[in-house]
Amino acid sequence: MEHLRIPGPTPLPDEILQAMTKQMINHRGPEFGQILSEITAKLKQLFQTKDDVFLLTSSGTGGLEAAIVNTLSPGDKVLSVSVGVFGERFATIAEQFGAEVIPLRFEWGRAADVDAVRQALKAEPKIKAVLVTHNETSTGVTNDLAPISSAVKEFDKLLLVDAISSLGSINLPVDDWHCDITVTGSQKGWMVPPGLAMVSVSQEAWQAYSKAKTPRFYWDFAKAKSYLEKGQTPWTPGISTVFALSVSLEMMLKEGLPNIIARHARVGKAARDGVKSLGLSLFAEESHASNTVTAVAASDGLDTNKMRQILREEHQIVLAGGQQRLDGKIFRIGHLGWVTEDDIETVISALRVVLPQAGFRSVS
Ligand SMILES: *Cc1c(COP(=O)(O)O)cnc(C)c1O
Repeated sequence: MEHLRIPGPTPLPDEILQAMTKQMINHRGPEFGQILSEITAKLKQLFQTKDDVFLLTSSGTGGLEAAIVNTLSPGDKVLSVSVGVFGERFATIAEQFGAEVIPLRFEWGRAADVDAVRQALKAEPKIKAVLVTHNETSTGVTNDLAPISSAVKEFDKLLLVDAISSLGSINLPVDDWHCDITVTGSQKGWMVPPGLAMVSVSQEAWQAYSKAKTPRFYWDFAKAKSYLEKGQTPWTPGISTVFALSVSLEMMLKEGLPNIIARHARVGKAARDGVKSLGLSLFAEESHASNTVTAVAASDGLDTNKMRQILREEHQIVLAGGQQRLDGKIFRIGHLGWVTEDDIETVISALRVVLPQAGFRSVS
């Protein structure tokens, strides 16, 4: 079997693969209603929220679009706190729907600076919402969401969070940190195939909803809520993926959220220590290095594309490259979901062999 070590899609345990082979059921029938209500209750535990949680049939980006169209009106001012590719994507979605985006960008590889967020909010009182990426998958950085949220709430703004590659892997208590909309995706830390986005919606987000004028249909949260009360989704859901999620949530709650978070912390540290032991350096500032994805700088002659090819062809290990302007400059090891320290050891051992074959001159 291939070692798929990219930051989503992630490998699936057998129990979850098996769940995908189940026969279709009526998505308007009682059996589906039972599954949906159980899933929703479990997701609330893992989101650490008492507010609404909805299941959308889409990849994570659909959940980001849902966050925008359900809370904003064209012309609304939005502060975009961006530290990489996915921060830019969230801002672009807001812009496409007519929001006036005020960009607050930080150097790729660094985390957002909380004081700068506060300054930006002070400078423009008309800002309605703040967009933040909790874990920036393109650079391997985890932002300090708790203090960012405090700053956002000091100014009484709406907080919309891309937690696609952190929720369920890295601690994110949605209610304690006052996240108004929090978005995640099934193929990241949830050990589920791509195809479902999960979103939480706070009371404040509902207030914004009642005033938001952006056109919306597929993503309408009020429809999601009224159908959920009947044990349904407004549109036909990805039923097989829902079966998979049902099994994965059972496994996750059995392991326990604190244990899952601790395992990701151990695995993240193993990845960082392993990479450094090879003489490579981390791309992300280490104080904010992510526990779900490690970005590694290409240095000392390393050809990352050649390295990834050799790893794939000779070691059956698949790593991710850099996105956009980071192509060729970094490579990334995904370690979220179904992952242990042994998996990381396998990657580091193979890298030790492959790095010199791919031009790297200073293997230690
Ligand atoms: C993967 C990812 C996305 C995009 O999700 P898709 O499921 O590919 O639409 C957005 N933001 C972050 C932080 C991600 O890791």
